[in-house]
Amino acid sequence: MEISVRDVIRDFSAYVPGKSIEEIRQTYGLKRIIKLASNENALGVSPLVQEVLARRISDVFRYARAASPRLCQKLAEKLRVLPEQIVVGNGSDEIIDLLLRVVPTPGRDNVVMFRPSFSMYELQAKLCGVDIRKVPLEADFHFSFAKMKEQIDENTRLVFVTSPDNPSGYACLACALADFAASLPPKCLLVVDQAYVDFCEPCCDFDMVRFLEKSENIVILRTFSKAYGLAGLRLGYGIMPPMLAEYLLRVKLPFSVNLLAEEAGLAALDDEEFLQKSLSLCKQERTRVSERLRELGAAVFPSQANFCMFRPSVAAKRVNEELLLRGVIIRPLLSGYDLGEYLRVTFGTVEENDFFLHCCEEIFHG
Ligand SMILES: *Cc1c(COP(=O)(O)O)cnc(C)c1O
Repeated sequence: MEISVRDVIRDFSAYVPGKSIEEIRQTYGLKRIIKLASNENALGVSPLVQEVLARRISDVFRYARAASPRLCQKLAEKLRVLPEQIVVGNGSDEIIDLLLRVVPTPGRDNVVMFRPSFSMYELQAKLCGVDIRKVPLEADFHFSFAKMKEQIDENTRLVFVTSPDNPSGYACLACALADFAASLPPKCLLVVDQAYVDFCEPCCDFDMVRFLEKSENIVILRTFSKAYGLAGLRLGYGIMPPMLAEYLLRVKLPFSVNLLAEEAGLAALDDEEFLQKSLSLCKQERTRVSERLRELGAAVFPSQANFCMFRPSVAAKRVNEELLLRGVIIRPLLSGYDLGEYLRVTFGTVEENDFFLHCCEEIFHG
């Protein structure tokens, strides 16, 4: 029997994630693997979150409450917005998917994004049958809003910007993004993906939240996957106008955020000590790893995130393969980003970074 599916599905290629520890352990027969590929938290999971998860495990025979109202309330207080402005999702990926399914009309409307950018925007737009327009980043990976404006017309419904950006680590000032939002046509929303904003220095110059009050066309995406160390539990959220939040909640699968994820999110917000430790380790290692890579002859892009992008003096493909042989997984940027000369490394613990840098020394000069 021939399985009949939509045309878009027949030549759809799945999201390519970073390689897993298990995969590399099996392929290379190694005992010790260091994973610096997916921008996960170097310190793992907060001890407070672990305690709460262990305590609540016996409750998982129950359904969670739809729309995670306790977490919305707590986030709203912390961010000084209304709970009605928050939509919690199964990772911020789910919010990206919801926005693309709810806002643009397939066959008529378009969405605009930079090239390269986080591949989820394009993948879900394609699935929805929404026209995609891409604007190249500048040579130094900065944003040109003038070029972006050239692609925006009266049918543009969503403009995606990642700040701090992945994979470059570049962050755009919040006031510049707010000015750009103000210049957009009436029905166009600016979606600012701030998955890495906690790592910015100083964070207040880049955090978009304070501009929500004045601007009615801004959506901010946040996640618990990075600074809060909950990537595997899947928890993220969007902050948006209440009317849009209501539309998203109409179609969101009611229990996409599971009971443990909500509990973990609540506990993670209480563990300020773990967050501060994670952020200060990242900032310390960002400076140290970037400087050392430069000393070793790589071109390193200044980063405001928990990773950096670099162009090694020898072929990136070889560097990646040699690192894998030594048990270090980083992110080659050919697939998904089309940046074959570049690599992205997440900042790990001091020991992990020391080992990574030691390997780089061998590979670059070997
Ligand atoms: C990691 C990341 C996210 C977070 O995705 P989750 O679904 O919340 O895990 C979102 N946007 C970008 C650009 C990212 O790099």
